Amino acid sequence: MASIEMRNIVKQYGDGFPAVNDVSLDIADGEFMILVGPSGCGKSTLLRMIVGLEDITSGDMIIGGKRVNDLAPRDRNLSMVFQNYALYPHMTVYENIAFPLRLSKTPDDEVRRRVTEAADVLELKEHLERKPANLSGGQRQRVAMGRAIVRQAEAFLFDEPLSNLDAKLRGQMRTEISRLQRRLGITTVYVTHDQTEAMTLGDRVCVLRKGKIQQVASPRELYEQP
Ligand code: ADP
Ligand code: ADP
Repeated sequence: MASIEMRNIVKQYGDGFPAVNDVSLDIADGEFMILVGPSGCGKSTLLRMIVGLEDITSGDMIIGGKRVNDLAPRDRNLSMVFQNYALYPHMTVYENIAFPLRLSKTPDDEVRRRVTEAADVLELKEHLERKPANLSGGQRQRVAMGRAIVRQAEAFLFDEPLSNLDAKLRGQMRTEISRLQRRLGITTVYVTHDQTEAMTLGDRVCVLRKGKIQQVASPRELYEQP
């Protein structure tokens, strides 16, 4: 687990207006931070700079007290959960969850232990031998989170993970994500358009507009203002 500190972060694509324009934000160890704002305000770009999938033009990204600007994604020990889940269709649920451990050449018995533990928390034990095509949207989402859990990552990053689901499933998954995050106490950054998600999931909400922070507040301060 780790805090995430952003100091004067700028991202300039080409020579246009900066996509992220001098953002400074401290996310505490174990905190659940929501990023909201209109399309194009820089949410995804910010998330991608945290995980290391996008270079930072200027400023400092500090994770767990360590400057990570020049670290590759694999050296940051973070887990990103994508909207489309990014599961491997030819692999079973077990192998999908185990995948990051295979990459790091974790011994088989350790892989088995950690995958079983994750499947237990996520209630996927009955489905370990199935392929993603035979799962519901919610189950696929849980597999994606399982992959994040087994890595024992320092933080979770979510990019609109529920936007492809129907309303009922979205409600269920909201509850699951909330329960899981509190149980694991893992630092989480979560991009969404959905006000209900922002209100129910976040410890704090950061509102972005045209690449700048407009407001950082608790969901209560933000949505229950008179
Ligand atoms: P959001 O996630 O809030 O919708 P993005 O971070 O995707 O916003 O985009 C912020 C701005 O940066 C937008 O103006 C977008 O067009 C631009 N942008 C995003 N990705 C790229 C890219 N790879 N190349 C050039 N411009 C980009
Ligand atoms: P390659 O080794 O072919 O360059 P990548 O750079 O895409 O592959 O990924 C290498 C490692 O970086 C992955 O195994 C994973 O640990 C990490 N990584 C890549 N993308 C992400 C992401 N979106 N979220 C978290 N970690 C990632």
